[in-house]
Amino acid sequence: MPHESVLIAGAGPIGLACAISARRRGLDPLVIDAGPIVSSIVQYPVGMTFFTTPERLEIGNHPIVCSAAKPTREEAMMYYRGIVRAEGIRVFTFTRLASAARESAEGTIRCTLVPTTGDPATRELTTDRLVLATGYFDRTNRLGVPGEELPHVTHYADEAHRSFGRDVVVIGGKNSAVEMALALWRAGARVTLVYRGTGFKPSVKYWLRPDIENRIRNGEIASRFAATVTSISSTHVAIRTADGGDERLAADRVYALIGFLPDFDLFQRIGIELDPVTGRPRLDPESLETNVPGVHMAGSIVAGRDISEVFIENGRWDGEKIFGDAEARRRASVRLGETPRPVGE
Ligand SMILES: Cc1cc2nc3c(=O)[nH]c(=O)nc-3n(C[C@H](O)[C@H](O)[C@H](O)COP(=O)(O)OP(=O)(O)OC[C@H]3O[C@@H](n4cnc5c(N)ncnc54)[C@H](O)[C@@H]3O)c2cc1C
Repeated sequence: MPHESVLIAGAGPIGLACAISARRRGLDPLVIDAGPIVSSIVQYPVGMTFFTTPERLEIGNHPIVCSAAKPTREEAMMYYRGIVRAEGIRVFTFTRLASAARESAEGTIRCTLVPTTGDPATRELTTDRLVLATGYFDRTNRLGVPGEELPHVTHYADEAHRSFGRDVVVIGGKNSAVEMALALWRAGARVTLVYRGTGFKPSVKYWLRPDIENRIRNGEIASRFAATVTSISSTHVAIRTADGGDERLAADRVYALIGFLPDFDLFQRIGIELDPVTGRPRLDPESLETNVPGVHMAGSIVAGRDISEVFIENGRWDGEKIFGDAEARRRASVRLGETPRPVGE
């Protein structure tokens, strides 16, 4: 059976940052991803601008070049492709880690990899260290209403142009939903935004907020706040409105952009202990090693259900904690608390 000294599951920004930390210590990790590299960013709304300034998205001290103050989705994808090339990171894309088990207390970790392309050829390999950096974009929160699985309902953003001249309902009220609603309106769709909250949260990007509020005020985008979806049919979305009434909204396409969850089933199959309420893994905070020896976690998944706690900006030093010595760990924690970017390290 093939053996890898380090296997990293997830080629998101944090999985790639971990690979750089490992390579700079003489290791040659294999990184696998269930999709393309940075598949989460691929699923952002087309043309989206990050809320983070470029230097805080950088990994391995490679500079991001972007044309405005903050990078776009497209510039970030280009950047991370360049990282893989420049650092010579070995990546197998469209390959999912299906399970992993420690063979014995001292033995290696046996991993099962499954192609996500329909090819039935499962692969097994062993590794000394497994880093899970699997993020949360694979699993979407569900409304749990009839009709949610109909083909015109999506839980991800996509190209707004598809909806030109059509009735579209966007469910949700955070950045993804707001961004998609605006893009759809600009692409000529008739948009209704349905949100269970009574107003937008302060976390909505400061440049999106006046835009969406003005569109709603002008009647260009319809909105239903404090409303819950009760069912979806092939032509309509049924909602319970703020005053307790029922309403049917015409919908050729439905975007349920209501958030994501880590793959807790995978973590439990590996034997990682999770807090039953928060979903947080039991981890050594210094090395991010779980209760399963040799299995580490990195990036957004270390915060369990609280997916907005760890993002690229503050997760990108996790590889230093996993592969570095005490001094590298100390620097990683200092950098997290710092405002300016550390230069020259
Ligand atoms: C619209 C939007 C805008 C955002 N803007 C910002 C921003 O401005 N700044 C910021 O810092 N953060 C931002 N974020 C959050 C940021 O995208 C995440 O914090 C970040 O992607 C987490 O990185 P990660 O590497 O931990 O996980 P991910 O980026 O989710 O990467 C995980 C990877 O693991 C793969 N994977 C999953 N399961 C498996 C498996 N079993 N086997 C193999 N591979 C697997 C996935 O395909 C994926 O490529 C934004 C998020 C969204 C949705």
